Amino acid sequence: MNQPSLICEQKNHRLIIVLQGRPCRYTGCNFCALPSAASGVVGHNEFHELVSLNLNKALTQVDSNIKEIFLYNFGNVLDPENLLPDTLNLIIDTCKKKFHKLSLVSMDNRLEPQYGFTETHLLKINKQLQPIQPEIAVGYETHDAYIRNRILGKGLSDKGFSNAMKLLANYGWMFVFILF
Ligand code: SF4
Repeated sequence: MNQPSLICEQKNHRLIIVLQGRPCRYTGCNFCALPSAASGVVGHNEFHELVSLNLNKALTQVDSNIKEIFLYNFGNVLDPENLLPDTLNLIIDTCKKKFHKLSLVSMDNRLEPQYGFTETHLLKINKQLQPIQPEIAVGYETHDAYIRNRILGKGLSDKGFSNAMKLLANYGWMFVFILF
């Protein structure tokens, strides 16, 4: 089993936080190795404790001029089964306190409610982050829906994508889509 870990890497004014915890619950993307590279069956509480113990220490290596944070967790950052909401809250609150120039927090996530992409969740995180801009990073992979869904197994229809974009716009979230 892969060991759970927290990695913080600074690139100029950007900070990338990689949470190697529980795996993505969507396993249909047949090009993706993330579910098997995650930490298997690490418990939520165990992973929360790991983040509590290590986040501040990891951030002491990072300078305070960070403006943008990118959060990845081997799956879906907003999915409560993938990353405990208390753990996400802890990360957001700690980073807000430390980085006074922070203007953007980006989270990698699928666009379906069963993976935490809900109005309630978007609203809650938006409020928690204020005045920092929230952003979703979406693995859109390709504009070609046949390749995206039939070949790559992404399970993301054009309609689902367009509805999700409207929801994000309604709640003031930015989005970036990642192409294969
Ligand atoms: S949703 Fe993302 S993390 Fe999950 S299997 Fe697909 S590409 Fe990988």
